[in-house]
Amino acid sequence: MIAANLPDFDLFYTGVGGDRLAYMLHHRGYTHTVVLAIAGAFLVWGVAWSIRRWRAGEAPPRGDARWLLALLMVSTLSHLALDWTNSYGVHPFWPIDDRWYYGDSVFIVEPWLWVASVPALVMATRSRVARVLLSLVLIAGLALAWLTSMVGVGAASALTAGAILSVLLARTLGADARVSAAFAGWLAVTGAMGAGAATARGAATRAVHALDPTAELLDVVVSPLPANAVCMSVIVVERDGATYRVVTARASAIPRIADAARCGTARGTATVFRASSRPSTRALHWDSEWSAPVAELAGLARESCVARAALRFIRVPAWSFAGDSTAHLGDVRFGGGGGGGFSDVTVKRGEARCDVNAPWVPPRSADMVRGAGGRVSSGAVSPALRELPAVAHAARRRESASAGQPDAVRPMNCRRGVRGRTGCCVFVSRAYYSVSWDIIISQETL
Ligand SMILES: [Zn+2]
Repeated sequence: MIAANLPDFDLFYTGVGGDRLAYMLHHRGYTHTVVLAIAGAFLVWGVAWSIRRWRAGEAPPRGDARWLLALLMVSTLSHLALDWTNSYGVHPFWPIDDRWYYGDSVFIVEPWLWVASVPALVMATRSRVARVLLSLVLIAGLALAWLTSMVGVGAASALTAGAILSVLLARTLGADARVSAAFAGWLAVTGAMGAGAATARGAATRAVHALDPTAELLDVVVSPLPANAVCMSVIVVERDGATYRVVTARASAIPRIADAARCGTARGTATVFRASSRPSTRALHWDSEWSAPVAELAGLARESCVARAALRFIRVPAWSFAGDSTAHLGDVRFGGGGGGGFSDVTVKRGEARCDVNAPWVPPRSADMVRGAGGRVSSGAVSPALRELPAVAHAARRRESASAGQPDAVRPMNCRRGVRGRTGCCVFVSRAYYSVSWDIIISQETL
């Protein structure tokens, strides 16, 4: 259990709710990488081996030690796999590949996973204190499902029935069958959530293309509502020429039974959003939208070190200006953009230096490279960033210079790189990802 939660020990140095920027960049940071997960498994193994040797007066049998090490590896690595399943993301392949990866298919605290596994865990645990604590976790999860507005009455009822069934199964099955049932339940929950999310992603993608065939779909962020594999929360990120647009929606994986408009309530988005006028269907209900010139985001990144650092985490940027020299920048996934979200940072012009940085590739960097595009008119640019025509000019020069080489400004892909020189390729790729963002910014300041 310690090993499975070891990656989250980063909370000891990132804090919770302290410095937002440090938290965004370093929670699910280095400790959530394959390299450190394996190192962590060795560390716990070494401690366990030493304690056993100290207490028993002799080293544990070699077979036991190997089994323990294998179990600890599975534990720490499974943490990364499970964190990957939601829309928060992980970057497990550092230092070779610093990109974020998002599973977009399971809610970040999914009560069905507790229902599937906690009763079996209670039966398998010998310590009475642990059994009581585990039972309390399950009861608290069920109580929360009934109390929060994010979980409807139908989903809460199904969850409670599922919990009763899971307890009955755990009490009647033998030890092996119990573990297998819990594991199968866990996989079934993940599969159902993944299937619902894939359906929602497909519906959103088709709807965007049907509404505006010229718009470029940059990203579709999908997250199921808790305890619900049918209702999904969707954020669509688009670019239409020089305009960047974010639209939030709710989707139903089974529209014949569940209308998307009745899937929970509209997600809380920052004040910059307004009600969307897009035509909704039973499968997809559009809630709110917001757009701004792409060049504004490039401008924020160019002018502020804090913005550049935050964009190494922010997947769906939204921003608002508070006067000529200050802006709020946040992530729509967490209600950001208006200054009040957990991911919102205050950005000031001319902040050349800041303490916090991390190697993660900014999720929207490739879009921004093309984003400061040549069709930005000075009239479309916020007065708070009057210097932006210079950005647009630099981008125009770069676009004409790279005409005919559409890959010239995209991050290098190792698989398309130098064959037979993997080590070198990996190194170049890594260096490229790390510095590409800084090159982008320096290009903007040309
Ligand atoms: Zn984690």
